[in-house]
Amino acid sequence: MLSTMQDVPLLVTRILQHGMTIHGKSQVTTWTGEAEPHRRSFAEIGARATRLANALRDELGVRQTDRVATLMWNNSEHVEAYFAIPSMGAVLHTLNLRLPPEQLVFIVNHAADRVVLVNGTLLPLLAPLLPHLPTVEHVVVSGVGDRSALDGLEVRLHEYEDLLAGRPDTYDWPELDERQAAAMCYTSGTTGDPKGVVYSHRSIYLHSMQVNMAESMGLTDKDTSLVVVPQFHVNAWGLPHATFMTGINMLMPDRFLQPAPLAEMIEREKPTHAAAVPTIWQGLLAEVTANPRDLTSMKQVTIGGAACPPSLMEAYDKLGVRLCHAWGMTETSPLGTMAHPPAGLSGEEEWPYRITQGRFPAGVEARLVGPGGDHLPWDGESAGELEVRGTWIAGAYYGGAAAEPVRPEDKFSADGWLKTGDVGVISSDGYLTLTDRAKDVIKSGGEWISSVELENALMAHPEVAEAAVVAVPDDKWGERPLATVVLKEGATVDYAALRAFLAGSIAKWQLPERWTLVEAVPKTSVGKFDKKVIRKQYADGALD
Ligand code: ADP
Repeated sequence: MLSTMQDVPLLVTRILQHGMTIHGKSQVTTWTGEAEPHRRSFAEIGARATRLANALRDELGVRQTDRVATLMWNNSEHVEAYFAIPSMGAVLHTLNLRLPPEQLVFIVNHAADRVVLVNGTLLPLLAPLLPHLPTVEHVVVSGVGDRSALDGLEVRLHEYEDLLAGRPDTYDWPELDERQAAAMCYTSGTTGDPKGVVYSHRSIYLHSMQVNMAESMGLTDKDTSLVVVPQFHVNAWGLPHATFMTGINMLMPDRFLQPAPLAEMIEREKPTHAAAVPTIWQGLLAEVTANPRDLTSMKQVTIGGAACPPSLMEAYDKLGVRLCHAWGMTETSPLGTMAHPPAGLSGEEEWPYRITQGRFPAGVEARLVGPGGDHLPWDGESAGELEVRGTWIAGAYYGGAAAEPVRPEDKFSADGWLKTGDVGVISSDGYLTLTDRAKDVIKSGGEWISSVELENALMAHPEVAEAAVVAVPDDKWGERPLATVVLKEGATVDYAALRAFLAGSIAKWQLPERWTLVEAVPKTSVGKFDKKVIRKQYADGALD
C-alpha cells in the first residue's frame, strides 16, 4: 500500500527559496582584510543567485547536468554559486585550490567542467592550467585581484558583477528529480587519482537537516558560524546549505586563513560556532597564547577531518571554548558522527565520550568488519574497519561523462556499504573511537600500533607543538614507528625525555626508537598531516 503523503522532491532550490525569504535578514559576512568586512543578507544572496542562474543559462549557455566549477575561497559569491548552479539543474563542482596543478587539471577534465567561476586572487593559479583544460569555455572572475594573468589566453572571460547586472530577479526553477546530481567533490587523491563523489539534491537536503539537529551542530538564526572549513572541502561540511534552512549567519574568512586574522575576526565578529580541522585550531592556539584574544563567543566548535588530540580539547576548555569532535569523509557528505556525550553526565564524566569520534546519527548505519570479513561486536574492544551506509553516503564514484559510476572493491563492499579505510572500535552505546587509518596503522611483529594514539600522547607534552607518527620498514619487526616532532618555540626537551613521557601511557613495546625533529609536519591540501610525504622523506633519507 502506498502512503497518502505528498511527494515533493527534496531540492536545493527549496533550501534557497526558504533561506532567502523566511531567513532573508540573516547575513553572510566576508572578511576583506579592510577596516570593515563585507555583509550581504540571505535575501540579497538569493536575488543574486537568481541573477547568476539567468546569466549562466542565457549568456553562457549552461544547460541541465552541465558541470560548473568554482575555484573560490569561502565568501558570499561562493554561496551564491552554491545555490544558483544546482537549482538550475547544473552541477556545482568545487575545486580544491590547494591541489597540485596536475590533479586540478585531472579533475576538471574528468568532470568536463564547461565554466569556471574564480576569485580574482586565484587567477595566477588558474591561468597556467587553462591551456590544459579543453572543456572549459568560460571563466567568470569575481572580487579583487589582477586580471592580467589571463591576457593572451583563448577563453571567454566575464566579470561576475557585469554578468549579473540587469538580469531578472526571477527564474523558472525546474522541478528536478531529487536524485539528480547537484554538486560534486573529488577526494584529495592520497592514493591514486582523485575520485569524484557526486551529491544529489536529496542527499544534500537530508544531510542539511541532520547538520541542523541538536545532536549535530544544532544552530539557529541567533547563531553565527565561522566557516573556516573550505567550501571546496566537502561543501564546507554542509554548512552553507544548512544555514539557509535555519537562518544561521555565516562568517566567511575568504583568503584570510592565517591564525592572526582568524583571531581578530573572532574577537570582532563574535561567532557563536566555528568549524575547522585540528591544524587550524593548533595554529590559533599558538597565536592566542602569544597574543591573547577573547574567543569565548564560540559556544561550540566543530572539529574534525582528522583526529583531535585530547590535549587540544583541554587547552581550549581552559580558554572557555568547547571543541566537539566529529568524523566524516568526502564520501559521507561529510557528517558521519559527532561526539556529544549522552544525557545525565557532567564535567569529568563527559570526557571519555568527548574524546571519541562520536555517535552515529539516525541517517548513518555502521558496522565493523574484521580482517576475515566477519562483522565484529560493538563492545568497545573489537577493532575492525568501519563500513557505513545511508542516504547521504556515496555508493559509487563518478565514472566520467560517458561512463558508468565506478565501485572499486577496496572502497565498496559487495552489498553496497562504503569501506571507510578507518580502523576503530564502537562502544555498546554507539560511540566510535578510531585508532587509525588502515593505511597508517603500524604493523609491528604481528601486532598493530596506533599512530594516532602515539601522536595524541606526544602532543600532550607541554613542549610539543605537533607530532606525526608513521610506519617505517624494520628488518626485525616488519614496521616500527617513526616519531616526527615539532617543538614549541624555545623548547629544549630531548628524545629520551619524550620517550620517558610516553612510557607513562603507552606500552613499552610500542614506544618509538626512531625520532626526528622537524620545522613543520607536512600537510595535505585540506590541512591534515600528510603521512605519505613523511614516509617518502624517510625513504629518501631526508629525515635523520
Ligand atoms: P581525504 O580522504 O582526501 O583525506 P577526506 O576529507 O574525505 O579526504 O578525509 C576523510 C578521512 O579523514 C577519514 O576517512 C578519516 O581517516 C579522517 N578523519 C576525518 N575525521 C576524523 C576524526 N574526527 N578523527 C580521525 N580521523 C578523521
